[in-house]
Amino acid sequence: MRLSNRALGIGESQTLAITARAKEMLSSGVDVISFAAGEPDFNTPELIREAAKEALDAGYTRYTAAAGLPELKRALAENLNSQLELELTSSQVVVSVGAKHALHLAFQTILEPGDEVLIPAPYWVSFPEQVRLSGGIPIVVPTSAAGRFEPRPEDLERLSTKRTKAIVINTPNNPTGAVYSQDCLEAISRLAKKQDWWIVSDETYSELVYGEARHVSAASISPPALERTIIVGSFSKTYAMTGWRVGYLAGPLDVCAAAGRIMSHTTSNVSTFSQKAAVVALAHRRSSVEEMRREFEFRRGLLFEGLEKIAGLSCVWPQGAFYVFPDISAYLGRKVNGALIGGSLELSRYLLETALVAVVPGAAFGVEGHVRISYATGRQRLIDGVSRLARALSALA
Ligand SMILES: *Cc1c(COP(=O)(O)O)cnc(C)c1O
Repeated sequence: MRLSNRALGIGESQTLAITARAKEMLSSGVDVISFAAGEPDFNTPELIREAAKEALDAGYTRYTAAAGLPELKRALAENLNSQLELELTSSQVVVSVGAKHALHLAFQTILEPGDEVLIPAPYWVSFPEQVRLSGGIPIVVPTSAAGRFEPRPEDLERLSTKRTKAIVINTPNNPTGAVYSQDCLEAISRLAKKQDWWIVSDETYSELVYGEARHVSAASISPPALERTIIVGSFSKTYAMTGWRVGYLAGPLDVCAAAGRIMSHTTSNVSTFSQKAAVVALAHRRSSVEEMRREFEFRRGLLFEGLEKIAGLSCVWPQGAFYVFPDISAYLGRKVNGALIGGSLELSRYLLETALVAVVPGAAFGVEGHVRISYATGRQRLIDGVSRLARALSALA
């Protein structure tokens, strides 16, 4: 018996081998420092955990409407409206099984087989696979460190065709930490209107911005941009709630209604007590988020300062999320014990085996010559990890 082409076409993550090896080393007692984490190292704030326990005891153990608890949708709409200066109603919000599921619902709702979707690279690992799963064709748009990893309008125009149906953007960005400027979002919105594209806007890290940086959504740019923007968000990173599986999509009414219908035949609602806890998380947004945000901001400085001292590494100062994406191309092409370090995958393997530091190869995000370093780890581990990296890299120079 043969599996579907859809199932056979889904790639396994290239990062998996390295992360699996790091875990194996850790469990056999090797002191690996992991800079590979894609989730906060904090526990979910106590207030939110208590809310879930109370919800369970109060009997919130049954189905809700597929698209979510009305009070959570209302709270999300209010929160988005005040942050992004929008006027969404609660029917323009769908509570999904994390942002990952919101993306899947968005693509299921807007794509026909063969539709092309523009994806600026480096991209979050699941974007291309998600587009393929919904029958679309991912079209990768290169960006550069010199251009602060923002897509350039001329590249978007050059790579678009009559079949282009949408563009996926992610700001603040995983893996680069870039926060798209107003200018960049205006240019994308203008093009989207001219060429009639949807804008799928992954704003999972919207609350995690630092210094002078401000998060702007494509939906806030103009009324025509609002009409075509599907906002994707999550409680995972903001509130350290990755395991709770609460995310959302927000935007055009017909998209949300269709996404709700799809949910009613697939997942049904997100776990009811997770939704109740999410209501409490939003109500205490300031206190829950700010402490973690400040700690990330401090670590960003600590990590960046350390990386900058390593000759041969070059980094763009990240403005959001919890990643740095240094250029490591100066170290490629060297041989270690007869093995060529030809790309980010081999370099990551070398760093794991020699420095006992796990990083994620840039290749996983669609670009070579970089690695992703996550600062979702404690301060002392960051300091120790950076000195291990410095030692291992200087041995290559
Ligand atoms: C972590 C992450 C997601 C997935 O978040 P969940 O809400 O846990 O599904 C989506 N997009 C980006 C860019 C992420 O980093």
